[in-house]
Amino acid sequence: MMVESGPPAARAGAILHVDLDAIAANFHRVAGEAPGAACGAAIKANAYGLGVDRVAPVLARAGADPFFVATLDEALALRHVLTEAGYPHPRIQVLNGLPPGDHDILLAHGLTPVLNSLAEVERWRQLAHARGEALPAALHLDTGMSRLGLPDDETTRLVREPERLNGIALTAVMSHLACADHPDHAENTAQLARFRKAAQRMPAAAERSLANSSGIFLGAAYHFDLVRPGAALYGINPTPGRPSPVHPVVRLQGRVLQVRQIDRYRGVGYGSTYRADRTTRLATVAVGYADGYPLAASNRAHAVVAGHRVPVAGRISMDSLILDVSGIPADEPLPGQLVDLIDPTHDVDALADEAGTIGYELLTQLGERVHRSYHGGDG
Ligand SMILES: *Cc1c(COP(=O)(O)O)cnc(C)c1O
Repeated sequence: MMVESGPPAARAGAILHVDLDAIAANFHRVAGEAPGAACGAAIKANAYGLGVDRVAPVLARAGADPFFVATLDEALALRHVLTEAGYPHPRIQVLNGLPPGDHDILLAHGLTPVLNSLAEVERWRQLAHARGEALPAALHLDTGMSRLGLPDDETTRLVREPERLNGIALTAVMSHLACADHPDHAENTAQLARFRKAAQRMPAAAERSLANSSGIFLGAAYHFDLVRPGAALYGINPTPGRPSPVHPVVRLQGRVLQVRQIDRYRGVGYGSTYRADRTTRLATVAVGYADGYPLAASNRAHAVVAGHRVPVAGRISMDSLILDVSGIPADEPLPGQLVDLIDPTHDVDALADEAGTIGYELLTQLGERVHRSYHGGDG
């Protein structure tokens, strides 16, 4: 299968290749790392920018359940995609909590809210009471991220007053790790201890869940009943500083618009921040910060041209960037060619690193002018 979206490949300035088989393989790799636990999939932000329409069915076929999204609208879009693809059943959990006033939409589409406060617990309990039926929900406890979930005092109250959960069918008690990508960080064991203690006192919950991608690689103590990988599925290394346990998923190509030779001491790009100290050949590539290639990569990142690693020269523009291709044989016909901005030798983490950002941000920022080309996914 080869499906595409965005402007036609033949004239696109940027092409993102997404390897759907690698996503499926990564799911099995990550799930295999936590053999005692069920494995869900975080698919928020349009499957981390890769395209939820194509990615969700692949993960559903691989066995991902539940799916985690941030917002109600993402959940509705995901339910539609999964149903159309023949997967009407996977559970979908909305991480950002209980949207005000949208309870009926949640229930009509079989979506499960992740309750993040006692106030949300109370609203869900009242709705269950009014409808005379048990309503499913997951419960998020804040054990140290200080972002979402019941703060300590609310968790304590809930433990003391379990009737607050009457009519709520707790599918899961979860928490989220702040420092899982630093395995030696003391916060990991601290959060683990807090979560274990709180979850023990919450016996009504069907499943306990703590680990995101990096958390899974902290070891079995962090796996509990359900793990929630996102980044690792999409090829972002969950173990920074160590070899990646997952396959690369994306390749980002840019098209060369023009090649020129400049003499010494000519400036390159806005602000003339790159100055050639010798005769220099430059290739202008049709990918800029409007496509999600980070401005902060100016004068810092690399690309791969005809098998050679070449530096970005000068500031990234809105619609283009410039590469110093002096090291490429002059007879190489570059204009019109595609060069690699992300490839297996210079992966999403490498480019993110050069730009002072993280793979998560890089992938989710890729813009609408980027042609997406999907490979594999047939099963
Ligand atoms: C995004 C998210 C995940 C997935 O995290 P990754 O680091 O991408 O694996 C898991 N749980 C929660 C609550 C999240 O917000």
